[in-house]
Amino acid sequence: MAELEATAAVARDLIRFDTTNYGNGKSNGESDAAQYVAAKLEALGLTPQFVDSEPGRTSVVARVPGRDPERGAIVLHGHLDVVPADPANWTVDPFAGEVRDGMLWGRGAVDMKDMDAMILTSLDDILGAGDLPSRELVVAFFADEENGGVYGSHFLVDEHPELFAGATDAVSEVGGYSIDLNGTRAYLLQTGEKALVWIKLIARGGAAHGSRVFRDNAVTKLAEAVAKLGREEWPVHLTATTRAQLAELSRILGMPVDDPDALILSAGTAAGFLQAGIHVTTNPTVLEAGYKHNVIPDRAEALVDIRPFPGQEDEVLARVRELVGPDIEIEVVHSDIGLEEPYQGGLVDAMVASLHRFDPGAPVLPYLMSGGTDNKALAKLGITGYGFAPLQLGPDLNFPAMFHGVDERVPLDALLFGRQVLGDFLRTA
Ligand SMILES: [Zn+2]
Repeated sequence: MAELEATAAVARDLIRFDTTNYGNGKSNGESDAAQYVAAKLEALGLTPQFVDSEPGRTSVVARVPGRDPERGAIVLHGHLDVVPADPANWTVDPFAGEVRDGMLWGRGAVDMKDMDAMILTSLDDILGAGDLPSRELVVAFFADEENGGVYGSHFLVDEHPELFAGATDAVSEVGGYSIDLNGTRAYLLQTGEKALVWIKLIARGGAAHGSRVFRDNAVTKLAEAVAKLGREEWPVHLTATTRAQLAELSRILGMPVDDPDALILSAGTAAGFLQAGIHVTTNPTVLEAGYKHNVIPDRAEALVDIRPFPGQEDEVLARVRELVGPDIEIEVVHSDIGLEEPYQGGLVDAMVASLHRFDPGAPVLPYLMSGGTDNKALAKLGITGYGFAPLQLGPDLNFPAMFHGVDERVPLDALLFGRQVLGDFLRTA
């Protein structure tokens, strides 16, 4: 078997560190993966710095000088943790880093040990050739992104803001990859993220024997509230980013722009990314109640993941209260801001130009991401964040399904493409 290309090899090594983040502060930790990336940075002649927010919750930061020290630094960042993977559902061992059918399989293959590897190998290409990136870089590998960055990016930004001194922009995950629009390969460039509000619903009732006629049942009340939120059809909401995106989609697909849902659903599997860019979502994700088959519990809880548009948090929460009714208590467990930057300016132009050097003429569309990244934490320091982890993908891979999905995998040639495009961008931005 041919030797694995360096980006794939690094991504594979990283997948083999099981850095599962279970949430609620429960995690396998990132220390081993952090040691690994720090050794790679040292091998490039850099001086990595470890930051532990808690034992085992390790982030790594290093500075790379730029050709033009007058310009603001770019925070080039990835996260080291991954969401859980149940091996019973997978075709392969999710933490073996197996290569099969021209793809690297494993938890983190696209979220985001692929980009971690692309950062390391593209820097190796630049520094190894005796060159420098155009702008100074703050290279950061964060812990805890998958649980809101409390033990990672937010901790570093709050406790060690000096690490990011002089930085004006940030580049990271979820953007830069290709989508197939009815035979046209296009790329999404992420210039915004929705906000997030994670709530707990609490229903209370009486405790009673499971055989009684009993209306004050906490489980029943909770189930009704959960169903209302889960089934709510939030109306189309457009922002500057999605208006520009829809105009491009309309041009490429030859469809009218006046029915945004229909237009996005015609975008094939990419709709999995785009649909939540025009609707608020209120997805119930965790249920907890009861302890015995014949006991009615006096309390039932549910977790709901809410993604409002930037600045819309209070309005959406008010509507959620209305939907669940006065009997249900709502506790905000965690929230974070939304971000939206204009689809213009030097950095956007540089990203588009780099994509075009490797895929001439391909359309590039602005993208408002429904998820969140560590860019939210960096925004507290006035740093403008973008999603640009370039991957050229074939039309057959359902890429949105890879994120937090079963059988997460990434084509090997996409990783090489990413290394090259990212390197080009860092040299020219
Ligand atoms: Zn991620």
